[in-house]
Amino acid sequence: MSTPPLTLRFAEELLFLLPARHRRQPVRLPPDGTSTVGHLVQSAGVPLTETGVLRVDGTPVPPSHIPGPGAVVDVAAVPRPQPLPVPARLLLDVHLGTLARRLRVLGLDTAYADDRSDAELVAQANAEHRVLLTQDRGLLRRRALWRGAYVRGGRPDVQLADVLARFRPAIDPWTRCPACNGLLSPVAKAEIDHLLRPGTRRSYDSFQRCGSCLRLYWPGAHHDRLAATVRDARAVLGRQTGVGRSGSSGAPGGD
Ligand SMILES: [Zn+2]
Repeated sequence: MSTPPLTLRFAEELLFLLPARHRRQPVRLPPDGTSTVGHLVQSAGVPLTETGVLRVDGTPVPPSHIPGPGAVVDVAAVPRPQPLPVPARLLLDVHLGTLARRLRVLGLDTAYADDRSDAELVAQANAEHRVLLTQDRGLLRRRALWRGAYVRGGRPDVQLADVLARFRPAIDPWTRCPACNGLLSPVAKAEIDHLLRPGTRRSYDSFQRCGSCLRLYWPGAHHDRLAATVRDARAVLGRQTGVGRSGSSGAPGGD
């Protein structure tokens, strides 16, 4: 008598994470009597950060549950929206630099550096209580990771829409430095007049300065693209929050 196999059934929203051969029909595995549901799900390719309720034969179970022979495991997707922890802090994987800048333009506290190893990313996420956003499933499967999420989409605008739809974060556009994540505050033109190129000095009167890297911002060259990011974000979030501050982008003398 052969032992009846385990069956893993994944929610539609999770199928893209599975190998192609497993997308059309449930995953069947020989039961080994020691593997937990969490391990089986992650071994199939789906990080637990992406899953909602796990059920075995219809009954909700924790990831530590060990299913018996013939069990049917149903894996739900993480419910959306999934509120961010308070305070809402993000850490982006090294491959998501453009997304990082856009999240910062929306005022979200977003750490990013392009030289972090996987171990350093996990350590920073844990130390600073940041949700790690990545497209590296191996990173999300690390046991030590405090919180993480898989970012869907290849283009930054699709990725941003995914992050906003998943977390529905409160946004506060034009309050953070897209370059370094520092907080912006208004600065008197007289105080920074000597740093401005003549064209900028002539054309603009309101300026903001980053408290960390001291970059200056004004409604300058990149305003249209960044304004589009803010407009699109508000559309995804389905709320109208007014025009916000008049700050925008441009490096010192960057007119
Ligand atoms: Zn800065």
